[in-house]
Amino acid sequence: MIKKVPFGDLKREYKEIKEDIDFAIKRVLESGWFILGKELEQFEEEFAKFIGSKYAVGVASGTDAIKLALLAGGIKQGDNVIVPAMTAVPTACAVTFAGGIPKFIDITPKNYCLDSTLLKNTINEKTKAIIFVHLYGNSGDIEETKKFAKENNLLLIEDCAQAHGTKVNDKIVGTFGDMSAFSFYPSKNLGAYGDAGMICTDNEDFFIKLKMLRNYGQEKRYYHSEKGINSRLDEIQSAILHTKLKYLTKWNLRRIEIAKKYEKLIENDLIKKPSINETIYNTYHIYPIRCKKRDKLQSYLKENNVETLIHYPIPVHLQKAYQDLNYKEGDFEESEKLANEELSLPIFPQLSDEEVEYICNLINYF
Ligand SMILES: *Cc1c(COP(=O)(O)O)cnc(C)c1O
Repeated sequence: MIKKVPFGDLKREYKEIKEDIDFAIKRVLESGWFILGKELEQFEEEFAKFIGSKYAVGVASGTDAIKLALLAGGIKQGDNVIVPAMTAVPTACAVTFAGGIPKFIDITPKNYCLDSTLLKNTINEKTKAIIFVHLYGNSGDIEETKKFAKENNLLLIEDCAQAHGTKVNDKIVGTFGDMSAFSFYPSKNLGAYGDAGMICTDNEDFFIKLKMLRNYGQEKRYYHSEKGINSRLDEIQSAILHTKLKYLTKWNLRRIEIAKKYEKLIENDLIKKPSINETIYNTYHIYPIRCKKRDKLQSYLKENNVETLIHYPIPVHLQKAYQDLNYKEGDFEESEKLANEELSLPIFPQLSDEEVEYICNLINYF
């Protein structure tokens, strides 16, 4: 009997790896060292290895990772930065906090990432950077975007907050841009038990600058050569993340298995399942279905004890916080349509087959 299917459940995860996690936390507590130590260094090294980047710099959150990447990349007050209209709002927050101005761009319905054919008409003389968001664990025109950025001398930052391990043509995301930003928010495919983030890069200058920026701009003790902030990934979270990194590939495979079940078992003309692109290794942070009667479907699932979420009901250009940028309804049709139709089904490694089948039966009955 199914009592309630939650959208996510980190208690189940902790139960699965409790021994490893308890051991890691205890190790840090007993070391008496909590900020910028061995645990962070080891996790940075392992994460860089996983991504295949030369350097990795741990920071306090995914938002900070994007913000510091922009600052290290030389973004100045008033510079325009291209951001998809459909993304988690923090992508845009990071731009404004770095002093930049988000210049929104629409997504393509093929994969819900930015539509690279629109780049040419979105840039202007103030555009300095592009943020490519690998939304929902999926990816899209990242190669085209990289080519465009290179031709137009723009900084390319990948927002990989939802895409730890996603690949495009066998190349892992986080290695296409000048820098890539990861979030380890607890519910992400790789999540801390608190806040944490990371920047990956192959560029030594960016690496050196990022290490200073996250730690008061300090070059060495008492010597500050940048105007920095405090944004560090602490030792306990580093130890937890290092432990969980060992499970990431297995957990991503389980997400893919669940996505395949949804793809196979959901049969309802009112529902549009995410399209599958053979060149993309999608790690399904989110399983986004579309339905014109989305709100009814969500209530129906809720009545039957299935929790779902919407990613995201309001595109960033229509958020109150960005009204000063003078965008209006109708500016980004695909993003707005998705906001009205998208529904995220539960997908997490510890979700059981029985629960997935229960959800599919309900959807087919709807
Ligand atoms: C989660 C997320 C962020 C922000 O990460 P935090 O660690 O919560 O700061 C940024 N961009 C995207 C696409 C996200 O999903």
